[in-house]
Amino acid sequence: MDFVVLISIIFVLAVLFLINHICVQFVKEKSIYLKEFYKLNGQIKAKFNIFQMKQNYHKSCNSKQQFDNFSQQNYIMALVDENLDKYVDILDKIKHNQQMFTGYLHQIHNLSKINYDYKELTKKSIISVSLFKKIELNQIEKDKLKPPMELYIEVFVSYISPQGRNRYSKKYSYTEKNIKYYIDECLKSREYKQSVKYQRSLMTDKLRYQVLTRDKHRCTICGATQQDGVKLHVDHICPVSKGGKTELSNLRTLCDRCNLGKGASYNPNGYN
Ligand SMILES: [Zn+2]
Repeated sequence: MDFVVLISIIFVLAVLFLINHICVQFVKEKSIYLKEFYKLNGQIKAKFNIFQMKQNYHKSCNSKQQFDNFSQQNYIMALVDENLDKYVDILDKIKHNQQMFTGYLHQIHNLSKINYDYKELTKKSIISVSLFKKIELNQIEKDKLKPPMELYIEVFVSYISPQGRNRYSKKYSYTEKNIKYYIDECLKSREYKQSVKYQRSLMTDKLRYQVLTRDKHRCTICGATQQDGVKLHVDHICPVSKGGKTELSNLRTLCDRCNLGKGASYNPNGYN
């Protein structure tokens, strides 16, 4: 008995499915609205940008301590910094897709205003005008283009103890809004690194010592040493105020006499 019921249900469902299929095919064939809609899809499809909406990263830690101390803030900052161009580009693509999509929806809406004789179309069929219209709308909802318009970054952090005894993992997700924030932070940080303040902060005792040792504790202009009663300074060849960097190749040892009055003048051909 149960078996007969089951077979009947399957049979009824199959018939319904078939009828639905026939109706949809009929509407697809006759509907001007749908024809125009698919034509529009064909035209607009290539104009949408394609990109991966979900970007996944996996950080595998070498120790439990590293796992515990994992700084998601530092990680995402470094990640965005490293892929800055890529993410700026994706955000541009999103903006483009959103604008295009708004226009696309508008065009679909305009297509729905096409006036044609539904009664004439459905005359010799089993489909009513309202069903015909319903199928049209269903098909449009189903086949509407869905371009990527969002961005997610997911960071998966894991640590597996030796012999795989313990497994630890955590996941961080970032939305487009978060990513925009990190891009801004990254740009600010890059700007700061170009700044005079930052270049001055790089001048450490260690670096100063490195320069003095390299120059054998002599003024690179007159050759004087501390034994000659001068004070030695480490000097920026191209001044920081003129874009000079605090790095070995731009640093030299000068005595206070040679350094005097030099100010921030810069002779690109060598020593002043
Ligand atoms: Zn000197």
